[in-house]
Amino acid sequence: MNIPIVRRILEKNDQAAAENRSRFGELGVRCVNVLGGAGSGKTTLLEMVIPRLLDGLRIAVLEGDLATTRDAERIAALGVPCAQLLTDGGCHLTAAHVQRALPHVPLAELDLLIIENVGNPICPANFDLGEHVRVSVLSVAEGDDKPSKYPLLFKDAHAIVISKCDLLPFVRFDLERAKADLRLVNSHAQVFEVSTRDDREAARFAEFLRRDAQ
Ligand code: MG
Ligand code: ZN
Repeated sequence: MNIPIVRRILEKNDQAAAENRSRFGELGVRCVNVLGGAGSGKTTLLEMVIPRLLDGLRIAVLEGDLATTRDAERIAALGVPCAQLLTDGGCHLTAAHVQRALPHVPLAELDLLIIENVGNPICPANFDLGEHVRVSVLSVAEGDDKPSKYPLLFKDAHAIVISKCDLLPFVRFDLERAKADLRLVNSHAQVFEVSTRDDREAARFAEFLRRDAQ
């Protein structure tokens, strides 16, 4: 009896997602949905890449969280428009939630709208927000078993960021094994191995976003 209810929610979400996507299309905005578990480094990744893109792109960010405006404050400190989407305990963003937040960013003036989803490796992957590009973030601190344990998180991603690679000497994470498992789930996504010590991969990821938004 649960299955029809789930399907109805997703159908309603798909409709709102399609509305968002056509609105973005009319205004020439590319939308990126960033997914990953709590503490995977999504906000830190945005702090690394957004400053690299501000020379050519007009960017705004929607920050999804269960509570607090802490991540939105970090993003606003970069000088980009940012709205906080609070789910009040909800474990994912929906397309309707994004729709309600759109009046709070200067959508018509943007090239790129980045949505940081609620930190959760499971259900956010089931909810299309109307994005054009999906980015999944996995930190090495989470363990190299996650690509096979949470395949949905990675299945539809256009880019997969393996974050916190500076921690590799200290954690049990076999990078080659993780990448092989990721390829089994998703053979087309570009993979970026990002470290806060060395910004070359973050720069390469920024260029991936720039190419997409232009
Ligand atoms: Mg965050
Ligand atoms: Zn959820």
